[in-house]
Amino acid sequence: MFNLVDEKWIPVLWNNGLVSNIGIKEALTRAGNIRQIAASNPMDRFAIMRFLLAVLYWCKRNPAENEATLTGESLPSEWFEKLDTEKECFNLLGDGKRFYQDYKHERKKKTANYLLQEIPTGTNKWHFHHSTDGVDGLCPNCCVMGLLRLPLFSTSAGRGYSPGINMKPPIYFMYEGNSLADTLKLSWRKELNLGMPLWANPNKSIPEKDDVPLLVGMTWSPRMIWLDMPERNQDICISCGRKDHLIRKCQYSGIGSAKTDDDSGRKWQDPHVFYVISEKEDVGSLHAKNALGSYDAASGQWSEIVKEALLAHMENIQNSNIYESMARNKSRIWVVSFSTIKNDNYIEAVEWHFSLPALKKQNDDKNNYFDIWENEAFNLVKKAQPYNPNKNEKQKMRRKNSELRPTIHAIRPHVEHVVSSRLDELLTGDADAWDKAAQEYRPMMEAIAGSLSPGFTTAALERRTQISRVVPDMREKKSTGKSREKKGGKKNE
Ligand SMILES: [Zn+2]
Repeated sequence: MFNLVDEKWIPVLWNNGLVSNIGIKEALTRAGNIRQIAASNPMDRFAIMRFLLAVLYWCKRNPAENEATLTGESLPSEWFEKLDTEKECFNLLGDGKRFYQDYKHERKKKTANYLLQEIPTGTNKWHFHHSTDGVDGLCPNCCVMGLLRLPLFSTSAGRGYSPGINMKPPIYFMYEGNSLADTLKLSWRKELNLGMPLWANPNKSIPEKDDVPLLVGMTWSPRMIWLDMPERNQDICISCGRKDHLIRKCQYSGIGSAKTDDDSGRKWQDPHVFYVISEKEDVGSLHAKNALGSYDAASGQWSEIVKEALLAHMENIQNSNIYESMARNKSRIWVVSFSTIKNDNYIEAVEWHFSLPALKKQNDDKNNYFDIWENEAFNLVKKAQPYNPNKNEKQKMRRKNSELRPTIHAIRPHVEHVVSSRLDELLTGDADAWDKAAQEYRPMMEAIAGSLSPGFTTAALERRTQISRVVPDMREKKSTGKSREKKGGKKNE
């Protein structure tokens, strides 16, 4: 019998570098020895972390004094006795109570691959991942991951298939410690209204007007699922590639609309979502933008997310002494999201790790550098264009420019990924640190210079040198880039 408490389904990376699969109980009681969850998809890693946090709340309720501030220690096994006494909540299969599932007699079955977004189902196009409904299936471990993703990453998928409690999947963030135990403790704070998680109370109703209890909001799922029993023979799982007894079909349906009237609507503040105030003064969650409509929309999201992460961090430091130790030491914020949202199309998941500075108060002019960075990154294309071209060159240039723009924007996410790991230097340091960050463009610009201007003529070499020299100029006088074109990334949402 597959039971999440002791079945080995969570992939973990131990502090000693080894990787293995373990159950919930081992993950929690040995959390001090675990570096992190080792699933390859960031959506799975985030979903598992949220689930383990919900289990911690459910078993131990709120942290007592000092319990959440001790770092580097595992969580005592007596905290988790409830996992044994109410173990039947975590049965994945069988006729009785099942984890995150509810049986309905008349419901139609669909392929189990609906559980994982990256596997093509129905009429979705095959690109690199080829899968056929009813032929390919998932191993039980992958089914668990799919069930855990439902509260966080469900998207609207036609009539009756509404998204989760956060509606259109927002950008999620979580503090990251040096072990699984530390990461859990950093999110474990006193919460008055805890409520019951979905596995303990499968009643799917959520309050229409009142506050949504924390555990209800963290685990509420907008889908009704009932997995078929695994097949007798083993086969290759279409998601993880392991040989196992596959589940090819399941009952899969939406629960209808989860919307409320805007004003009297339910009150739910997700602890792992950035809330921002829009131009119309509405408070809403921060989302990925539509990156398909413009060259820079995908890359242009970085500085906005960093700014929001910093604001959330500063607020936490000021409001809670739990974060005092974090403020003294360096800490990290982990961000997971869909990379782009266009209507209800969601194209792949992304993650960032930001190292945060050991500081207490936000220094406002550091924010200014983000604006300079944003402007400069956008102006790189203009800077890389040939100067004083003659008529003949102008024509060539037009053609070349159509390659220049997307190429320069395409390298930006890589540069910002490198820069993200040194964010603390940027925020505590001065202009030099930003200048160093700008230099991260150099090897990439050299590489694209070679491809945009190949050949060995004097003109080609000159052009190559020109392109490879272009990097953001982080000097402060540049802060108002008035001549810049309208950005595609800004007009969406
Ligand atoms: Zn699998």
